[in-house]
Amino acid sequence: MTPPRVAIIGAGLAGLTLARFLTETGFPVKVFDKGRGPAGRMSTRREDGGGTFDHGAQYFTARDPGFQRMVGTWVEQGLVAEWRGRFGSLEHGTVTPQTEGPVRYVGVPGMNAVARRLASGVDLRSGVRVEHVRREADAWALTSESGEALGTFEVVVAAVPAPQAVPLLSGAPELAARAAGVRMEPCWAVMASFDAPVALPLDGVFLHGSPLSWAARDSSKPGRPPGERWVLHASPEFTREHLEEAPEAVAPLLLEAFARAAGVEVRPREARAHRWRYARAEPALTEGALFDERTGLGACGDWCAGSRVEGAFVSAVAVSRRIALMAR
Ligand SMILES: Cc1cc2nc3c(=O)[nH]c(=O)nc-3n(C[C@H](O)[C@H](O)[C@H](O)COP(=O)(O)OP(=O)(O)OC[C@H]3O[C@@H](n4cnc5c(N)ncnc54)[C@H](O)[C@@H]3O)c2cc1C
Repeated sequence: MTPPRVAIIGAGLAGLTLARFLTETGFPVKVFDKGRGPAGRMSTRREDGGGTFDHGAQYFTARDPGFQRMVGTWVEQGLVAEWRGRFGSLEHGTVTPQTEGPVRYVGVPGMNAVARRLASGVDLRSGVRVEHVRREADAWALTSESGEALGTFEVVVAAVPAPQAVPLLSGAPELAARAAGVRMEPCWAVMASFDAPVALPLDGVFLHGSPLSWAARDSSKPGRPPGERWVLHASPEFTREHLEEAPEAVAPLLLEAFARAAGVEVRPREARAHRWRYARAEPALTEGALFDERTGLGACGDWCAGSRVEGAFVSAVAVSRRIALMAR
C-alpha cells in the first residue's frame, strides 16, 4: 500500500518531531510554517551585537521515559545541555535560593538548536500561513492566506497552538470544538542587554507578587555568547491587561517591575519586548493528540499533553502512532 501523503502545519517541536518520525518510516511529509524559521515557541532571537535570547521556552524537564531517551540523544549530539544556573524565588525583595530542583535542559547554543536539527531532515516550507484545509474528493486541499494552492494530502495534522488549530480543523467539527475549549494564556517577554552584570545572586528567578513571573540571566546558559543578557516574562494577569499595547510601552514597565522586585539598579543598553499571544494552555488536554482516523485530520502540540516542551514531544509521538495504525 502506498503510504498516505501527510501535511503538517507548524514547525515547532511537535510538528517537527512528527515530521521526522513519519519521514523516517517512509511517509511522504511536507511541513508548512508561517514563521521565517522553525522552532515556534522554542525560538531564539539574535540581537545586532551578536548576543542571543531564548525569549519563549526557557528550559525543559524530562519525565516521560521516551522523552528522556530523546533528550539523552540530543545531549550526546551536543544540541542540548544541562543549565546549572542558580535558581530561586523572589518576593518583595527577599531572595530564596532553591536548593533542590529538576534537571533543567536548554538547547545549545540556543533553544532553537533541536528544532533546527530536526528541520534539516524534513521537507519544510517556511513563511507560509495555511489558511484553509478543505475536503476535495478523498484528500485535504491546503490553501495559504495569499490564496496559493499548497497541495492535497490524505493526512493533515495541525501542530499549532489550540486557537490557531480551530479553523484548520473545521473539517472535523468535534476536534475543532475540543481545541476551541482550550484557553491559552498570553505572555509579554522582554529581552534586555546590559554592559555590566545585574547585581542579583540568581540566574533563574520565579517571581511572586510582581507583574513578572520569571526572570532569567539568559547569558548564564551553557554555550551562549559572552555578555549580560536577561529575559523577563510577565505574569498572565499583567499580559492580559496590557495585551494590545505597543512593545515600546510594555518594555519599560517590566524593567521597572524587575528593578522593584529585585531591589537593584536595572539600566539596560538595549531592551525589546515580544508578545506571545498563545504561550501556554491553562489547562492542557490530557488525551495526547486529536485525530480522526476516518478522515485523516488531526492536531497535536503541547496543549494536548501538558503545556510544555515535553508535552509537545509526547503529543507528536501519540499522533504518529495513530497515523501509523491508520495507514496499516
Ligand atoms: C514565553 C514562554 C515561556 C515558556 N517557557 C517554557 C518553559 O520554561 N519550559 C517548557 O517546557 N515550556 C515552556 N513554554 C512552552 C513551550 O515553548 C511549548 O510547550 C512548546 O514549544 C510548544 O511546541 P509546539 O510545537 O506544540 O508549538 P509551537 O512551538 O507554538 O509551534 C507551532 C508553529 O506553528 C506555526 N503556525 C501557527 N499557525 C500556523 C498556520 N496557520 N500556518 C502555518 N504555520 C502556523 C507557528 O509559526 C509555530 O512555529 C514556554 C512558552 C512561552 C511562549
